[in-house]
Amino acid sequence: MALDWFNLEGKVALVTGTGTGLGAAISKALAGSGADVVCHDIGDGAKATSEQIRAMGRRSIALSSDLSKRAAQDGLVTDALKEFKRIDILVNNAGVIRRAPAAEYSDQDWDLQIELNLTAPFRLSRRVGKLMLEQGGGRIVNIASLLAFQGGILVPAYSASKGGVAQFTKALANEWAAKNVNVNAIAPGYIATNNTAALRADETRSRQILERIPAGRWGAPEDIAGAAVFLCSEAARYVTGHVLVVDGGWLAR
Ligand code: NAD
Repeated sequence: MALDWFNLEGKVALVTGTGTGLGAAISKALAGSGADVVCHDIGDGAKATSEQIRAMGRRSIALSSDLSKRAAQDGLVTDALKEFKRIDILVNNAGVIRRAPAAEYSDQDWDLQIELNLTAPFRLSRRVGKLMLEQGGGRIVNIASLLAFQGGILVPAYSASKGGVAQFTKALANEWAAKNVNVNAIAPGYIATNNTAALRADETRSRQILERIPAGRWGAPEDIAGAAVFLCSEAARYVTGHVLVVDGGWLAR
């Protein structure tokens, strides 16, 4: 039955940035399809989501660290493996956005976004991907953005980081496709989360964005979760190196 293709029972997923927004929705959707989930976030962020997943009858632990630090990136995989011994699904979701005019853009904001949004996903993919090659398969889903295709306004570092995410997704997919390790990205459109709070608070930008979305509404985190389940499932076994746009039609326009 086709529904079985989406069954993730027996799989262990590691998801970053699970406290709010897309990460919370994706990790709960993976658990809803049967996966056990290692929830990660900075501070106490992952705890509530992890508890909700345990209440769904799945195994879950909450890990905490600042993924803009290299030692934390390495430690996350080590800690996840201590508990679960394997990782079948990696969702690189944690990310930040910093808005400022390019001429005033600080090195600090540039460095943070390149490290957290681009380098951390690559370094986690490198380590977990190696494990998946040894295990005989796995799924990596990177959360990119429409700004992998467009430059955006006031967000040069964010756009650069997400463009990089889309490109390394394809590079890893090429290398690992024959080994049953599929690497894809999701490019969400404008989704109502903390990431877009400043945009939604700006009446003019908010109206301009809404008017341009063919679906006529901002996305909700759950709108992205189905795409993530698909890419992590057997149904997507021949899908790799793809950047799946989930944007209510924005890019089609
Ligand atoms: P969000 O701010 O709700 O979620 C980001 C998560 O990352 C939070 O849980 C946060 O605590 C975590 N995080 C931040 N800094 C961290 C750090 N140093 N170490 C570990 N975790 C950290 O926003 P969101 O929209 O859910 O963002 C999730 C992903 O989706 C991000 O990569 C974002 O760039 C991407 N995205 C969002 C949109 C959108 O419209 N909301 C569009 C395209 C892409």
